[in-house]
Amino acid sequence: MTRNVVVIGSGLGGLAAAAVAAARGHKVTLFDKNPWLGGKAAVLHLEAPDGSRFRFDMGPTILTVPRVLRRIYAEAGREQRDELPLIRLDPQWRCFFEDGSRVDLLENVDAMAAEMDRFAPGRGMGEGYRAFQRIAHHLHGVSERFFFWKPVEGISDTLNWKRNFTPDTMRDVMSLRMGQTVAKVIRGKVPDERLAQMLDHFCQYVGSSPYLAPAVLCSIGDMQAAEGVWYPKGGTRAVAEGLANLAASLGADLRPGVEVTGLDIEDGEVKGVIAGGERIAADAVISNMDAIRTYGELVAGPVGQAYQKKGFEPACSGVVLYLGLNRRYDHLAHHCFVFSRDAEEEFDAIYKKGEPAPDPTAYLAATSCTDDTTAPPGGEALYVLVHTPYLRPHHDWSKMFAPYRRKILDKLKRTAGMEDIEERIVVESALTPVDIHERYKVLNGAIYGLASHGAFTGAFKPGNRSKNIKGLYLCGGSAHPGPGMPMVMMSGWIAADAMDRDAGGRGMSEAADLAGRREADLPRAAAE
Ligand SMILES: Cc1cc2nc3c(=O)[nH]c(=O)nc-3n(C[C@H](O)[C@H](O)[C@H](O)COP(=O)(O)OP(=O)(O)OC[C@H]3O[C@@H](n4cnc5c(N)ncnc54)[C@H](O)[C@@H]3O)c2cc1C
Repeated sequence: MTRNVVVIGSGLGGLAAAAVAAARGHKVTLFDKNPWLGGKAAVLHLEAPDGSRFRFDMGPTILTVPRVLRRIYAEAGREQRDELPLIRLDPQWRCFFEDGSRVDLLENVDAMAAEMDRFAPGRGMGEGYRAFQRIAHHLHGVSERFFFWKPVEGISDTLNWKRNFTPDTMRDVMSLRMGQTVAKVIRGKVPDERLAQMLDHFCQYVGSSPYLAPAVLCSIGDMQAAEGVWYPKGGTRAVAEGLANLAASLGADLRPGVEVTGLDIEDGEVKGVIAGGERIAADAVISNMDAIRTYGELVAGPVGQAYQKKGFEPACSGVVLYLGLNRRYDHLAHHCFVFSRDAEEEFDAIYKKGEPAPDPTAYLAATSCTDDTTAPPGGEALYVLVHTPYLRPHHDWSKMFAPYRRKILDKLKRTAGMEDIEERIVVESALTPVDIHERYKVLNGAIYGLASHGAFTGAFKPGNRSKNIKGLYLCGGSAHPGPGMPMVMMSGWIAADAMDRDAGGRGMSEAADLAGRREADLPRAAAE
């Protein structure tokens, strides 16, 4: 049955939900408070006084798990590779350490293991890395079976002790290493502190501390090794534009510049939204607004209050510098990490003390390595991201920004061989945690929704099908399965799929089913 569906928010989760719901034949209207579509996947153009122009992806820059996009396009009978071409990057990251050493993260596990043995000889690091990747591969499979592509809020949504509890399931549950953290698993296999610090940073895709995140998140290591790191032609902004075009071509009505300020809920069932001051009737609502704020501000009442008390914690925030350079640094790769002097000190400051790290890790995107349209010839549109704590009442970024910018530039000079960076900057802009909070209407300036902290239940977030309000679905970084481009797009797919199933809709096509599977899970004929 065709439903009138309203989507609140055009982040990658909301756009994915709109495209999938429209592909399944539903009538979709999407609202975003901002004048652009794509949420954090926004674009920034800067012009230097000499007229040279730079283009920056403002938010996400590293795309992984492209099969999520393949499934979304396949829902509409289309091929992602025709409409949104992606370039595979290898080395995936270049890593700079405080002691002056450098290592490249390579996609191929054996090549990386050999590189690790060269980097820290005689200590079995290569074999340890292979063992880590075997664990990561297994945990990725467990995630696929129990967490992905389905609306999960707690363990009982995915594990039914009576219905599906078999010896295989028991083995999977045991292998989750419940009670162990990501940092513990990594250091058990790869104890070289620099290499461990590099592997820790898979956890930064979800804005969480590896010292607090559950071991299942080691699976991100396999997602990256098995499925690659990708740069969409035209930048990550192309993903937002591609999904918006896909949804619009399927009939979705996309309305930027309109804020949703309320839900019309009658007898526990959603009947519409208040958008731009007007009541719009809806059979179903998919909210891509932060899940805790959706419950607190749009649902409100006892249900809304209950979600405020569940103990969810915002993920980290960040400071981004967008630096237009008149001369590029030839020693940078497309993605670089310039690591802090001490991983534990850094994560402790950000995630426990709630203060910016005294010596931070800086992530750099030097896109001119791959794309000659982001900067003038010989120049660089250098993107620098440093994670910071989510906003606390005493944080005043109008005062904190200038000294922290200096600290970041000093770090790049000292650890990444960029001593003359200030002389090369011809234009710049920045984003602080307060800007992130206001632009994207998130929780306490969080970049990545909710933190995945808690060695037992840290992987669980508010579910995609509301348990309390009929007809309300959730997607985005603070909903299941969590943040980062692939996961929010998967959350959009899950929310639209749940809505479609509840409406007795036509469900997923076989082509979409195959397009979204891991290579390891494909039937042999399809894999060949
Ligand atoms: C600086 C930065 C770097 C990042 N780097 C990476 C990376 O390299 N790789 C990666 O995978 N991920 C990265 N991420 C995370 C990734 O960008 C996010 O997880 C993802 O884009 C969030 O998508 P979302 O669906 O949650 O929606 P969001 O992008 O959060 O968008 C939500 C939208 O909803 C709108 N909205 C909210 N409330 C309302 C309302 N009431 N009415 C109307 N509209 C509303 C907002 O205006 C916004 O446009 C990064 C994020 C940032 C900010």
